[in-house]
Amino acid sequence: MKTKTVELIISPPSPHFVGDGFRVHNFIPSVSPLVMERMNPFILMDYNSKFVFPPSDTPRGVGVHPHRGFETVTLAYKGKVQHHDNSGSGGVIHEGDVQWMTAAGGILHKEYHEKEWSKVGGEFQMVQLWVNLPSLYKMSKPKYQAVKNEDIERFKIDERGSYLEIIAGEYQNIKGKISTFSPINLFNAKLLKESTIDFKFPSNYNTALLVLEGSIVVNESENVPLNHFVLMANDGEFFTVKANENAVVLILSGEPINEPIFAQGPFVMNSRQELWQAFEDFNNGKFGYLED
Ligand code: MN
Repeated sequence: MKTKTVELIISPPSPHFVGDGFRVHNFIPSVSPLVMERMNPFILMDYNSKFVFPPSDTPRGVGVHPHRGFETVTLAYKGKVQHHDNSGSGGVIHEGDVQWMTAAGGILHKEYHEKEWSKVGGEFQMVQLWVNLPSLYKMSKPKYQAVKNEDIERFKIDERGSYLEIIAGEYQNIKGKISTFSPINLFNAKLLKESTIDFKFPSNYNTALLVLEGSIVVNESENVPLNHFVLMANDGEFFTVKANENAVVLILSGEPINEPIFAQGPFVMNSRQELWQAFEDFNNGKFGYLED
């Protein structure tokens, strides 16, 4: 089995605000070479590194906006996110929880700091991923998969207390609860200092790591500091992650969807015509209505 080598270690780009509630580093698609095609099916990654929000009676966040053609995955590490959409669905994403929203044919939603959390404020850390959908499913019915932290499948790495959360995909025959439309592995490794774990993914799967706590060594040679993104090369299957100090690492690996990508704003489709149709449908109120 060949080693999957490190292609690039990427420091966090300057943050920007999404609405007034999410201070994010956009790794995918704005940092070279992390264009949508390179990381497909992961077509966007916004990382809100730890940031302290002062108390606010008016929850901060981002107002009503649409999505079509993909899924949004929200992972809350610190703080709480509240979500509402035009189908009447909503919910709170607590620390450690995952919300996997299949926007598919179209959804209108808003995302805010949870009301009571907002009143107190504090340290906030989260990741939002956009996961591409194969053309067959781009216009399917929207749906949600919400998994509470205590319900996420776990693999025990060692006797010291290090473990792997299997959100989607499979590790050592343990399957994540989230079902996906194309092959995807999404894991959180929660490692004590000196703990090591190895991973094996097909060489063509686009694969990356994000260090959310501590620091790690990949393949016993590449040191990766906090808040850095590791792009793995498509040259092999096997790699190792060792914690230099207590660490939390997000691991993503997925089979590329080999279809054209036409993306603009909140829509990611397969052709210019489909993109035009998305704006047309949105402007004609076909995404429904949601009060701001
Ligand atoms: Mn959104």
